[in-house]
Amino acid sequence: MKAISSIIDTGALVRNLRRIREMSPNSKLLAVVKANAYGHGLYPVAAALKDDADAFAVSRIEEALSLRTQGIIKPIVLLEGFFNPEDVELVSRYDLYTAVHDLRQVEAIEKAQIKKPVNCWVQVDIGMHRLGSCDLDEVAEIKRRLEASPNTVKPLGLISHLSVADTPSEQKYNEQQQDNFFNFVEKLGFEGDLSLGNSAGICKWTRSHTTWVRPGIIMYGISPFEDANGQDLGLEPVMTLKASLIAIHKLKKGDKVGYGATYVAPRDTILGIISAGYGDGYPRTAPTGTPVYLNGRYVSTVGHVCMDMLFVDLGLDSHDQIGDSAVLWGKEVPVETVASRCGTIPYELVCHIMPRVNTEYTSN
Ligand SMILES: *Cc1c(COP(=O)(O)O)cnc(C)c1O
Repeated sequence: MKAISSIIDTGALVRNLRRIREMSPNSKLLAVVKANAYGHGLYPVAAALKDDADAFAVSRIEEALSLRTQGIIKPIVLLEGFFNPEDVELVSRYDLYTAVHDLRQVEAIEKAQIKKPVNCWVQVDIGMHRLGSCDLDEVAEIKRRLEASPNTVKPLGLISHLSVADTPSEQKYNEQQQDNFFNFVEKLGFEGDLSLGNSAGICKWTRSHTTWVRPGIIMYGISPFEDANGQDLGLEPVMTLKASLIAIHKLKKGDKVGYGATYVAPRDTILGIISAGYGDGYPRTAPTGTPVYLNGRYVSTVGHVCMDMLFVDLGLDSHDQIGDSAVLWGKEVPVETVASRCGTIPYELVCHIMPRVNTEYTSN
């Protein structure tokens, strides 16, 4: 019996990507695999998608180099660019595409001693105020200097990010951000590749279906919207988090469970101990009542989640046995449901899977 496993269905991953292609049929797909592929495993996910994705996107140069050295040959885009001037040489040597969001990066590219010019996507701010400038003159200067440098591939690309794409009620601000993006394209004459839509943009905002879209969370079968699950969007969950029942106890009404004795049994029942805790990435913020799927029905967590274990109320008629396997999230328990019970987003839960969790790859 395994304490805890994250089972990754690479078949579902590929089917999700094909579904995404149907949603934005005129765009190339930049599969976002940053943060260990949202906790699903950087290299195995990229390897599973190597024929279906058009390119990969990461946030850190280390992630890109890890993919390259393991044999991924598709283009890889650095969404935040490079952080140190000396990294331009690596960007060139390993054939990476880099976002360029400020003049500091421009200067590093101008001064680099490199053999192969680098592919650059100018990163602009259209309303989020995270990376890039929203000022036409400043962006024009970045563009002019990059175009003048022999160290860049021409034409330059343009990239930006939507900040409220997951909020359909923000119609006006979404339209305004898309207007801002195309204003940069027209006013500054960008002729290279354009990249705007993230998962929510792919699902809801068709003007963000530019040369490249950047699916992240939906590739993993998870919804970016609060009021929908991945399954409502025609996607399949890729990760199933499973743990084992490792102890069973009879509880009398009034018995107190777990650290802090915060849960008091309201009736006689049978308590189960499951081998998963916040040390594995199951959130400690999961309140009493969070669903767990065990032996064909839903049971509820009770008390505080511990580092290595959590408690579930099995009910008096339980026939569960030590060693039985419980689904903490996956098809039967959407990770979106667990996240909303915890007051967070499913992105955070899947990213927080810890290294000690046994990750298995299957293809259904
Ligand atoms: C993480 C990220 C994405 C993917 O976002 P999802 O909501 O997971 O689709 C796209 N673009 C940028 C710049 C990102 O940082």
